[in-house]
Amino acid sequence: MKVLILGSGGREHALAWAVRRSERVTEVVCAPGNGGIAQIARCVPVDLKDVGAMVRLAEAEQPGLTIVGPELPLSLGIVDALQERGLRVFGPTRAAAMLESSKGFAKRFLQRHNIPTANYAVCTTAAELEKAVEIFHPPIVVKADGLAAGKGVIICQSRRTAIEAAQGLFSGKLLGEAEQQVIIEEFLVGDEISFLCLSDGKHVAPLAPAQDHKCIGEGDTGPNTGGMGVYSTDAMLDAGMKEWILRHIAEPTVRGMAEEDTPFAGVLYVGLMMTARGPLVLEFNARFGDPETQAILLRMESDLVEALEASIDGRLAETELRWAHGASACVVASSAGYPGSYKTGFPISGLDAAAQVPGVQVFHSGSAQVGSNLVTAGGRVLGVTAAASTLEEALARAYQAMAEIHFEGMYYRRDIGHRALKRKR
Ligand code: AMP
Repeated sequence: MKVLILGSGGREHALAWAVRRSERVTEVVCAPGNGGIAQIARCVPVDLKDVGAMVRLAEAEQPGLTIVGPELPLSLGIVDALQERGLRVFGPTRAAAMLESSKGFAKRFLQRHNIPTANYAVCTTAAELEKAVEIFHPPIVVKADGLAAGKGVIICQSRRTAIEAAQGLFSGKLLGEAEQQVIIEEFLVGDEISFLCLSDGKHVAPLAPAQDHKCIGEGDTGPNTGGMGVYSTDAMLDAGMKEWILRHIAEPTVRGMAEEDTPFAGVLYVGLMMTARGPLVLEFNARFGDPETQAILLRMESDLVEALEASIDGRLAETELRWAHGASACVVASSAGYPGSYKTGFPISGLDAAAQVPGVQVFHSGSAQVGSNLVTAGGRVLGVTAAASTLEEALARAYQAMAEIHFEGMYYRRDIGHRALKRKR
């Protein structure tokens, strides 16, 4: 079977790597892909904002399965468009992807279905907002309604700064585009867990849990990024808590979406804060996370393609996913200046030596092939990912491989997994 993967990051590299391991797969095409993906798949250019172009590509390639990586094409309705043409595609429809593409929709949905989440108000005017802010106590979390590539959440230390932040979102000054709705939320304290499941519209099958590091600086300091590292361990969630999250959060979400005639099939990514009041939903994503997917897929023993097909065909209830015991970790190497402005085009060396470290896979987030050289082409460049029987060993392997790699301005955090390691000591 030919598999088409839409996207160009580390997530898509990990998906291509996992898909290729399936015995049923004969060819992997990735659009647009990147320099690293090009070593294991055929990459073809496409604009991920252009549904028509993606449909033309899929019609020309006739894949047996299309996997949509990023949120933007999902929010534009790529799944609906491919389904209308009789093509098999993994991912939610545009209406179901609203769980991610509108935070206002997601919050109201959570409330309608009594699914635990932070207290909030959805505001459509500045006057509404000023009134709502009065009943929250700082710190106050202000969120853009729409997709904002990780830049739409502002934690404000006073009511005044919360109002200013919200005005910045309404006017378009903060994100470049004016928001119609702004969400105000109570500030939650606790450990964050990424709980990802496959859903077939009725049933869910949980993936290995993960915890990511969003801040650029060590000790979780400095501005937020797309993710500087992530790890996954068995110990992260005990069986009782996993069961609770399934029964009270993941399953009611999928049931609620089906009841509202927008069944959700695809990856339901539940971002949770483990608070003193129990797990509360921070956000939903409607797709695999990046870099969570790199760490999760390295632990997956089941055939990914079979699991995704079970999700498309409504067979997840009969599908048990198998995971390697132990742990995995992904450390991201970024360009100097990221998440601000950065330069690209620097040659990357040491990848062969890094790949020799046992248990290691290097997934590319932003690289390009120029002649016979791989060069940097993004803010996040590589995700050095390793699996092992313990988190300590997985991290040691990832950092050993990272030490082999070099490009000008290369930066990475040396403390990925520090929260879990501290808890163990
Ligand atoms: P979101 O896109 O809603 O997940 O927000 C991005 C990040 O902002 C989360 O991963 C949290 O670290 C932080 N965040 C979002 N909402 C809250 C909240 N209510 N309390 C504390 N931190 C939050």
